[in-house]
Amino acid sequence: MKTIRLKAGKERSLLRHHPWVFDGAIDRGRADPGETVRVESAEGRFLAWGAYAPSSKIRVRVWSFDEAERIDAAFFERRLRAAVQLRERLAIDSDGVRLVHGESDGLPGLVVDRYGDVLVAQFGSSGAERHKAVIADALLRVTGLQRLYERSDASVRQLEGLPPATGWLRGDGPTECVIHENGWRLSLDVAEGHKTGYYLDQRDSRRACAELTRRFGWGDVLNCYSYTGGFTVAALAGGARHVTSIDSSGPALERARRNVALNGFDAARCTFLDADVNASLRAFWAEGRRFDAIVLDPPKLAPSAAHLERAARAYKDVNRLGFKLLQPGGVLFTYSCSGAVGVELFQKIVASAAHEAGVEATILARHGGAPDHPTGLAFPEGEYLKGLVVWRRP
Ligand code: SAH
Repeated sequence: MKTIRLKAGKERSLLRHHPWVFDGAIDRGRADPGETVRVESAEGRFLAWGAYAPSSKIRVRVWSFDEAERIDAAFFERRLRAAVQLRERLAIDSDGVRLVHGESDGLPGLVVDRYGDVLVAQFGSSGAERHKAVIADALLRVTGLQRLYERSDASVRQLEGLPPATGWLRGDGPTECVIHENGWRLSLDVAEGHKTGYYLDQRDSRRACAELTRRFGWGDVLNCYSYTGGFTVAALAGGARHVTSIDSSGPALERARRNVALNGFDAARCTFLDADVNASLRAFWAEGRRFDAIVLDPPKLAPSAAHLERAARAYKDVNRLGFKLLQPGGVLFTYSCSGAVGVELFQKIVASAAHEAGVEATILARHGGAPDHPTGLAFPEGEYLKGLVVWRRP
């Protein structure tokens, strides 16, 4: 077993069980990609077992803080079983579920989503990559499922020096799935879709959107950054008269159309725009179009803290346009999935957007990632999705 010795005083975050060791904290020691290493303090005290990543800034990701624990097949099976059992206890109204959420489930770099009877895994760290076969076999045992598709094509792999990898790891068959979420049917393709195929983290926000549509009796709803139409289906299910969906991805909109049909809604209640959201909102403003409710769920505008200022401006711009297009008494569902934009900052951005739009507004609800996307208490970096449901006072 190789040992990684930290510089003096660099053990503090590990003593609090934060799962990352940055390159600058290391005094000496190295290992192969994904190899299990013993991390110790400058004084030689055991701190953690972790996976070494030679070319990543995050040089070690911790598997365990327990010196007696061995990082073997039984370890991975225990962790996977705990993660899957947690999901069984959560009341998730869907068969599309995140089973493993990386660091927050004690499995750094590993994401596993379940879509019906298909598992999709993303091996986003050198450690997860090294134990891929063991993890794949354990996943099938723990879930009782037979098909596992790999979507290791996220950009984090590059930071770890890993090439992209996609395809069936276990079993095979069609990559298209239909899940049942909140009573709706939603199709997705695990090979072609974003992330592992779908944005499971927004499940509860979509349900809230359906509920508020019903309670408020909205006529015209605008779904910006619609992807495959999750919020579109939600608003239609809530009884919206018409839903306009905007996305810059043609294939995503094509699937959104199919998802509307899959739920038996009349296509005449929908408009799909393959366009840039900002440009479309400006055009609506010029035309005098207004909406009863607007969803703004942009992609990650701040990939890191370095992009924060520009991202904050982009969030403010789109939210200002959103507020301007809202009918008095209307509601804005606004989200940010940038980890670098905290809850407080996001609220400030939305507040100044409302101010610039000249509207008075009140927060009706705060949204976050669905409960199958938990955040480790010692790992605040895991928290990324936040949302505000804001009422434009008449
Ligand atoms: N709300 C969706 C997820 C949105 S993901 C859901 O519930 O499933 C963000 C989407 O924004 C992606 O589909 C992406 O194609 C789209 N997108 C990114 N930049 C865009 C732009 N400038 N204009 C329109 N759509 C954009």
